[in-house]
Amino acid sequence: MSLNDHIHQLTREHLALVDGALVSKPPLLAELRAACRSNLGAIGGGSGGAGMIVNSKAVKIENDIKAEALNEHFEMTGKEYQGTLVELITSWAAIQSPEWQDYLERTTLNWIDKIREMLEAKRPPWRPSIPCPACGKRFHGPEREPCIGVNYWDDENETIAPPSTWTAECDGCGAEWNGDNLRWLRAAADTPKADVAEVA
Ligand SMILES: [Zn+2]
Repeated sequence: MSLNDHIHQLTREHLALVDGALVSKPPLLAELRAACRSNLGAIGGGSGGAGMIVNSKAVKIENDIKAEALNEHFEMTGKEYQGTLVELITSWAAIQSPEWQDYLERTTLNWIDKIREMLEAKRPPWRPSIPCPACGKRFHGPEREPCIGVNYWDDENETIAPPSTWTAECDGCGAEWNGDNLRWLRAAADTPKADVAEVA
């Protein structure tokens, strides 16, 4: 992998090997941006972003990358950079100095690893086999997959999140819940975790 490959993965749509097949992936910086905000917490629709959850781990990685990139630019040119992070990193493809190329190749690889690690740390939702309170179904689709998915994991602290911050959705009918609206989980018969009893 070269500096140009790293720049490409960070700033452009690129091909990646997933389960043995080449698939088109969005730019890593765009995935990072998307990870900074989750709209799972927004309920009721059209409420102007109320209940927006911020993924502080993603925000920290993004801020660190920005600060480092601006610093490298200043070190290289003696000037403050005015422009977007994507433009700045893209401009590194034209760098001629082998020393800077080597250095930025390592720097960008470090960013790629950090972003990937953060994206992959996400746990799949918990799938309790209970009926959806909105549509009444337990399973949906030809594969009879469970309707309800509960996002209970705190990626930042790598532990079960406080139940008041959980979100859930029904993949069958698209209903979403969070906070107080998750009270119905408490009544579910097969809740395997003590914390579920505290959802209120
Ligand atoms: Zn449903």
